[in-house]
Amino acid sequence: MTTLAILGGGQLGWMLGLAARDLGVEVRFLDPSPEATAARVGPLTTAPLDAIGPILAFAAGADAVTYEWEGVPAATVRALLGAGHAVQPELDPLETSQDRLVEKARLVALGIPVAPHAPVDDLASLRAAVGAVGLPAILKTRRGGYDGKGQVVLRAEDGIEAAHAELTDAGPLVLEGFVPFDREVSVIAVRSARGEVRTWPLVTNEHRNGILRRSRVVGDDPTLEALAVDHVTRLVGDLDHVGVLTLELFVVGDRLVANEFAPRVHNSGHWTIEGAATSQFANHVRAVLGLPLGPTELLGAAAMVNCIGRLPTAEAVAGIEGAILHDYAKAPRPARKVGHITVTAPDAATLDRRVAALLAALPGDDG
Ligand code: AMP
Repeated sequence: MTTLAILGGGQLGWMLGLAARDLGVEVRFLDPSPEATAARVGPLTTAPLDAIGPILAFAAGADAVTYEWEGVPAATVRALLGAGHAVQPELDPLETSQDRLVEKARLVALGIPVAPHAPVDDLASLRAAVGAVGLPAILKTRRGGYDGKGQVVLRAEDGIEAAHAELTDAGPLVLEGFVPFDREVSVIAVRSARGEVRTWPLVTNEHRNGILRRSRVVGDDPTLEALAVDHVTRLVGDLDHVGVLTLELFVVGDRLVANEFAPRVHNSGHWTIEGAATSQFANHVRAVLGLPLGPTELLGAAAMVNCIGRLPTAEAVAGIEGAILHDYAKAPRPARKVGHITVTAPDAATLDRRVAALLAALPGDDG
């Protein structure tokens, strides 16, 4: 039987595992936590993601290795490749996405607009960066930030020292001009080893406190979508990326400004399980194993609501037509993603009615 070894066993790994099972593919996971939720769908090895020996033993005999988290150390992927394993996505997408400054340089080189930005290594370079970029701006760690962590908004010059002090131990930084966006979107692409690229329809995303709360996909913006597809297609080609990649963008008028990309399946693509002809998870598994890609078109309209901190009651979900709960089986904790609800509908108006009814039935977010 075909076997896929997955580094990381969170909810993304779990959903990759479910999709793999539907394709007749066996999965196994490696995660630092013995409580990793993906253990529900395949055997779990507990080890740190930089433990080369245990990781090589874990990968032995698998047909391919992939990862569900872009924080996997590049040295781990390098060691797997050196031992002859087929690891996808490879090093270039991984390493480029791990450093916001390197990532932005790559996007700029491809003609994909990004926010004005400047590197920050100390207080003096922060002052210089504020002069170059202007205010308001966001100071971010170059590496390791996620869900808005490792970020400080800087509104006035008298906040410079405090902002720097907050991130002073966080390694190299980058200052980004605040983009006055109308909305945030993402475009998800999958690329096969032969270079075939497919994309899912443009997703509109709402964040709060840096965490994705909701996504909505109605396929009503062909012009903007064509621009996003152009950007992501050039990006995955240039990176020689194999698997799913997600590009997050700000919409400013009729322009798109890229924020960042993730070389993996993404929270803003969870709706594809019910709302698209083939899910991001199924197509990622297909791509990394060299199987043919499935069609990606939207089936009607779809939305996704993240469950942050706590899950809804069965009554709240069951009362809404087209609503499906995905329970990550994680202990409740403030600001933690513990599940999501997908809502599908035949058209945008019906979708919006269903989502409004769902939100009215949900308890407030916890985080
Ligand atoms: P990130 O970790 O870069 O994805 O940032 C998390 C969220 O912060 C984004 O989804 C935006 O809502 C907001 N944000 C990040 N960078 C900027 C920016 N340069 N301008 C405006 N909003 C931003």
